[in-house]
Amino acid sequence: MSVFWHRRDLRVDDNRGLAAAAEDGDAVPVFVFDDDVLAHGSDARVRFMLDALSDLRDAYREAGSELVIAHGDPAAVLPAVAGAVDADTVYWNEDYTKLSRERDARVRLALERAGVDRESHHDGQLHKPGSIRTNAGEPYSVYTYFWKKWRDREKADPFPAPDAGLADAADLSPAALAEAAGGETTDVLHETLRADLPSIEDLGFAEPDADVQAAGTAAARERLADFRSEPIFHYDEDRDYPAKHGSSRLSPHLKFGTIGLRETYRATESAMREARDRDEGSEGTEAQDNVEAFQSQLAWREFYTQVLYFNPDVITENYKEYEEGIDWHNDPDELAAWEAGETGYPIVDAGMRQLQAEAWMHNRVRMIVASFLTKDLLWDWRAGYAHFREHLADHDTANDNGGWQWAASTGTDAQPYFRIFNPTSQGERYDPDAEYIKEYVPELRGVDADDIHGWTEMNDEERAQIAPDYPDPIVDHSERREQALAMFKRARGED
Ligand code: FAD
Repeated sequence: MSVFWHRRDLRVDDNRGLAAAAEDGDAVPVFVFDDDVLAHGSDARVRFMLDALSDLRDAYREAGSELVIAHGDPAAVLPAVAGAVDADTVYWNEDYTKLSRERDARVRLALERAGVDRESHHDGQLHKPGSIRTNAGEPYSVYTYFWKKWRDREKADPFPAPDAGLADAADLSPAALAEAAGGETTDVLHETLRADLPSIEDLGFAEPDADVQAAGTAAARERLADFRSEPIFHYDEDRDYPAKHGSSRLSPHLKFGTIGLRETYRATESAMREARDRDEGSEGTEAQDNVEAFQSQLAWREFYTQVLYFNPDVITENYKEYEEGIDWHNDPDELAAWEAGETGYPIVDAGMRQLQAEAWMHNRVRMIVASFLTKDLLWDWRAGYAHFREHLADHDTANDNGGWQWAASTGTDAQPYFRIFNPTSQGERYDPDAEYIKEYVPELRGVDADDIHGWTEMNDEERAQIAPDYPDPIVDHSERREQALAMFKRARGED
């Protein structure tokens, strides 16, 4: 017997650790609700996770097995489950954040004390953090070089779902497990095993206000297939235009592992073959460039994971230190207006309202709102990160942190401090017909795109006439730009 512990890999297909556990024989799949992890959760993510778990449980039932669900400290639950089913080994897939690594170290110790073997696998990335380094053997801090090595390195094939080697469902009911358990393990099992999935309220969360996208492997595959069918061939051309919906929207699935990275990459390889055919005879390599641009986003994800892996402090500290420290302005009313999507900068407000409505935001707009918070409102990026963590269904410590530190000019490949997005021209350029803005800001629906993009140029009376319910700009971009430059110059000790 073996035990497989699910964490950020809520699927049976293309799951390296599960494949290894099943090969070992009679794997008992387990998921543990861990209060230390839930402490970092949010309504949207817990909703997505519960739906993904429900899908995972169904997948096991179809295979004649049962997902064992527990709530407690994994360092107590896993040795207890292993004891009850007489498993020799507990398997899992590695996770690379500091919190996860500390938890896993505790679980390892507890299992060792209980005389149970541990086997962890690398699964959630195509290339393990630390496996791609500079020629001098250092981890990369510049994406472009990382990407070239990442792109050229051979990738593993997807792992098929186990067609045998899963424990029999009949042996895995909470009653059967508790009965099988003897001695010391009984208490832990009785306390923590659950016959069913908890409700969102049981876990201390509420139904999210946002319309969170469908979870589960079938939903992820549908998204991937849809994206692979056509949008991937236009990805690079369309990805910056939020009204075009040109990206995959796989991010919550990649966060929770409802689809495997190898399976995802395999789809891009087949798209690349099709792209070669499409490009044949034409002058350039257009379709191939578009597919490669998408592959390079998967590499960004792995780049930021390795940045966090080697620099766990970036979660709270600037990656790039400024000599004098940055003296952020941090006005609470301005932060509240940003969070509510009431800044009077239409593209910023559309983005913040998309976040409220969908627990997701388009990448270009994430960059715009993050620049606005840090360079126009002069707010410490940590406040923006905290808000995103609270609301994004796809919040991923490494990517979220990487995105924020990039925007704040404190990160690895960060935007230089003097390059400050102008939110008005960003809106004009990337949402020229204001379609995206009108979708999320109803007060502007009846307004011409030119007036929307001219909002900050008008006077209060003009604005009151055109869209009386939409706020006036809360700050003047040119003034704030100067203040931001001065703030960064002081931080650099140039003042
Ligand atoms: P696609 O464009 O279809 O890309 C495919 C996948 O590649 C994504 O699902 C994601 O896993 C990865 N990816 C794409 N862009 C990036 C990137 N710039 N950095 C790292 N990985 C990337 N992404 C998250 O997954 N979680 C976050 O919490 C997160 N926070 C962000 C915060 C800020 C301030 C910024 C600027 C970006 C953030 N991103 C985050 C990156 C990016 O915005 C999202 O990954 C992307 O918008 C998700 O949509 P998609 O799945 O359609 O992406």
